[in-house]
Amino acid sequence: MTERAIKLCSDNGFNVIADMCLHKHNQHTLRESVNHLASLGAYFVRIGGIHNTESWKENNEAENSLTFEELFTLYYDYLPHFFEDNLPVSLQFGCFFVYNHHNPNEFYIPGYMEHQKPNDCICGCARTNIYITPEGRVLPCMPMAGTIVHDKMPLIQEKGLAECINNSFWLNIVNLRVRDYLAANDECRNCEYQEKCSVGCRADALETYPDNYMGKSPILCTFIKGGWPEKIISLMKKIKPEAECINLKLKG
Ligand code: SF4
Ligand code: SF4
Repeated sequence: MTERAIKLCSDNGFNVIADMCLHKHNQHTLRESVNHLASLGAYFVRIGGIHNTESWKENNEAENSLTFEELFTLYYDYLPHFFEDNLPVSLQFGCFFVYNHHNPNEFYIPGYMEHQKPNDCICGCARTNIYITPEGRVLPCMPMAGTIVHDKMPLIQEKGLAECINNSFWLNIVNLRVRDYLAANDECRNCEYQEKCSVGCRADALETYPDNYMGKSPILCTFIKGGWPEKIISLMKKIKPEAECINLKLKG
C-alpha cells in the first residue's frame, strides 16, 4: 500500500520524502531499503534511529533500539555503498549526514557547526517548517507533540494563524538562539567541543530530559565527542573527493 502510494505520487510529479527508522531487526536492510525507495521514485530518504516512546517501550521493544554508536557505525559503513549505487535520491541520516543529489558535489553534516555563532537559531528547521496538531495547535515540529511545551503552544481557532506565528509562545521557542541555550546549560557552556556543536534538536533532548527544554541532546553529544564529523569528512575525501563539506565552506 505504502509502496503504491510512493509510486503514484512520484509518477504524478510530487516530491516524496520517505522516512525510515532503524532498529536491531531491520538494520541489515539499510542498503536494500534505500535502493528500493529510490526505485519507487522517492525524492528524499530520511533515516534515523528509534525514539524510545512509551508505546515502543510498552511493547518491550526498547532492547531492540540501536545505541547511538551502533547507529553511527551503520551509517558510516553504508555511505560508500550509497555512492557506489549512484542513486537518483537525496539522503539524510539525522544529525550525521545530508546529501542532495541535485548538488552532487556537496554534503552537509547537520550536527556539526564549525561556523556556529551565538546568534544562530537552535531550531534551524523551525524557520521553514511548521506543524499543526489535529487539535489546531501550532508547534515547531511533530516531535514536539506531547512534550512540556505542547500545551503552551497557540491554538489557531483562538488566535488565528497570523497571530499564532507573529506574537506567541511558538515564536519565542522558534526564535531561541545559541546564546540563550548556552546561558541555560552549564555543561554545554563549559564544554571544550561547544564551538563545533549545533547544541542539538530540542525534541531529541526532551526524550532524555523531559522537564528541561534546554537539556543536552545525548545523540548529538555522542556524535560530537566521538569525533564523527571528522570521520565523515575524511571518509568522504576517500569515496567522493570532489564533494565539498558545506560546514567547512560556511566556517568563519
Ligand atoms: S552537547 Fe555535548 S558536545 Fe555539545 S556542547 Fe553540550 S556537552 Fe559539549
Ligand atoms: S526540535 Fe528538532 S525537529 Fe523540532 S524544530 Fe527544533 S531542531 Fe527541528
